[in-house]
Amino acid sequence: MRTLFKGGSVVSGSGVRRLDLLTEGEKVAALGRNLKEEADRVVDVSGCFLFPGFIDAHTHFDLEVAGTVTADDFASGSRAALRGGTTTVIDFACPDRGESLHSGLARWHGKAEGKTFCDYGFHMTIDDWNESVRNELPDMFARGISSFKMYMTYPAMMLGDRDLYWALKELKRLGGICGVHCENAGVIDGMIAEKKAAGALSPASHPATRPPWLEAEAVARLLRIAQTADCPVVIVHLTNGEALREVQRARRRGQTIYVETCPQYLLLDESLYNSEAFSDAARYVCAPPLREKGEQDVLWKALRQGGIQTVSTDHCSFTLEQKAMGRADFTKIPGGLPGVETRGELLWSYGVARRKISAAQMCRLLSENPARLYGLFPRKGTLQPGGDADIVVYDPSGSRIIRGEDSVSAAGYSPYEGFATSGVIRQVWLRGCLSVEDGTVLEQPPHGRYLVRGKCSL
Ligand code: MN
Repeated sequence: MRTLFKGGSVVSGSGVRRLDLLTEGEKVAALGRNLKEEADRVVDVSGCFLFPGFIDAHTHFDLEVAGTVTADDFASGSRAALRGGTTTVIDFACPDRGESLHSGLARWHGKAEGKTFCDYGFHMTIDDWNESVRNELPDMFARGISSFKMYMTYPAMMLGDRDLYWALKELKRLGGICGVHCENAGVIDGMIAEKKAAGALSPASHPATRPPWLEAEAVARLLRIAQTADCPVVIVHLTNGEALREVQRARRRGQTIYVETCPQYLLLDESLYNSEAFSDAARYVCAPPLREKGEQDVLWKALRQGGIQTVSTDHCSFTLEQKAMGRADFTKIPGGLPGVETRGELLWSYGVARRKISAAQMCRLLSENPARLYGLFPRKGTLQPGGDADIVVYDPSGSRIIRGEDSVSAAGYSPYEGFATSGVIRQVWLRGCLSVEDGTVLEQPPHGRYLVRGKCSL
């Protein structure tokens, strides 16, 4: 099947060009002005922008947290992803401590295989460091996993400084890249204990016990550990200017540091935790927490200037009923927000349409950079002959109001309830197959494919 997209503007990381685009089967076949090639069907995309399918390199589908499991599994989560123009997710395989990486990976394949609607890969979580984990690492690369995740907080998963150091040293040797959740564990634990002793158990205590400087401290410490191990790292879900300044300092001394932020830190702020009704505050509980409004400008500026390389979502969805597990104790609120469904329209509406970033920058943040960083380029992340025909048709003339009740995600609410979009996603194509039309995910069997990823090329 040959499909010709006529009259649109093709977006890449370096700019926007008026080009027709021809796909053949699952691949992009040609681009050019006024393509005359014969096609089986012609799609009129005049006035629309064609983006390479978005990549969300930070999702948690079908994950057990705090005695419950995320509202979205790989089926609903990947349908929500497609709805939002995300044709590839990279989720986190999380072996339990003491479980082998191979066993954890097999479990995650079991969760995803045969029920995922978009393409997918896995990062591997390292929550333990010992000889057997070290011995398993080379085979992870052979199985298509080139990126890893480590935590500096959460007792069940965190690594101490020594193990962070040894793990990074080994990843340096193997050519891997690692994302790290940076928050100071000990002081946060202490502050939580103080809140509990004082009976301050409402969601407002959540941001109070995880201040931005304890994120910045962990970033600074991680970057010194990475300096010692001589290994590049990714700071995931960075939220604030203090933390960003630590990154800039490390870059000035020559380190390679990649930074990810998320829409919730660009668009929502910590005043939401002060809502009178429990569920209105609890729905925003995530870690790191939302920050002061002023931080948003800092993050947008860093997106514009290239200091932040990717915007992913940390999609980790729970229903309001699940959030109510923490009604009497904020530490029992399952942490995380839905986001995989709205990232593209939000970045366009509140970034590109408001001239905070360009369309090309949006393409780098959502498609090109994550593809390079996580070893998918140029199969993904760019519309070039030979690459996968993952295409988002963005119509800047449309508009919609984001409503939880309209969502594909099983969370049942959206953190962006009532947000108006500038433009809408008109169509989403996954490897040449029309998957979303006018906001509706088309009924199809799941045909998402597991992606064997190579090494970082960013
Ligand atoms: Mn996460």
